[in-house]
Amino acid sequence: MSEARRKLVVGNWKMHGSHAANEQLLEGLRAAGPLPADAAVCVPFPYLAQAAERLARTALQWGSQDCSAHEQGAYTGEVSAAMLADFGCRYAIVGHSERRALHAEGDQLVADKAQAALARGVTPIVCVGETLTQREAGETEAVVKRQLSAVIHTLAHCAGEMVVAYEPVWAIGTGRTATPEQAQAVHALLRAQLRAATPRADQMRLLYGGSVKPDNAASLFAQPDIDGGLIGGASLKAQDFLAICRAAVR
Ligand code: PEP
Repeated sequence: MSEARRKLVVGNWKMHGSHAANEQLLEGLRAAGPLPADAAVCVPFPYLAQAAERLARTALQWGSQDCSAHEQGAYTGEVSAAMLADFGCRYAIVGHSERRALHAEGDQLVADKAQAALARGVTPIVCVGETLTQREAGETEAVVKRQLSAVIHTLAHCAGEMVVAYEPVWAIGTGRTATPEQAQAVHALLRAQLRAATPRADQMRLLYGGSVKPDNAASLFAQPDIDGGLIGGASLKAQDFLAICRAAVR
């Protein structure tokens, strides 16, 4: 069944970049030949137009790092899914652990954001993951299932349309990667949870994120339920990001 899933590698630039620096990075990405994976970069909002222009007519897609749960209205500072769709966004990351922690985003808000994105044809990349304290307390399974459950219930029959990213918080930006076995164990749990919710579970892509680099990507991507990666730091260097994309073997 897993043979049907083409790998997906998504860069999360976070709050990095400038118009000039992005020109270089996007040019490096544009120069890539065919890749064995689908690939996208999620850029800061002000640079969506730049990404859309520079990546047009390439195999690379682009997206945002967040999306409002609201359609439109008096929500100063927010960006709606309709606006993202206007810029040709294919993906919107929602529920990244930095937003959950720094902006107090709860499970239901994340689910509402995922629904708002899908309603506009933007695929939500829903992030779930436990903190180190939760892992050490043996709570990993309960935490990720609770986070995913909120989204499954809100999306209902559309749940099979999302991409899920398992990102253990202790592995993000720390250089401390989950072992392929640790990551696969959680991905298998998530896949089982999705199977109980949607007939599309075996076609859905489950990404791993947390200090993925060119030298560890292949072993992570070789796991049966890991269908690609969400890449932070290493997505800021074209050569590293492309090397990670090339580590996708199916
Ligand atoms: C991320 O920000 O989603 C991430 C996985 O970051 P890093 O690859 O730098 O750990």
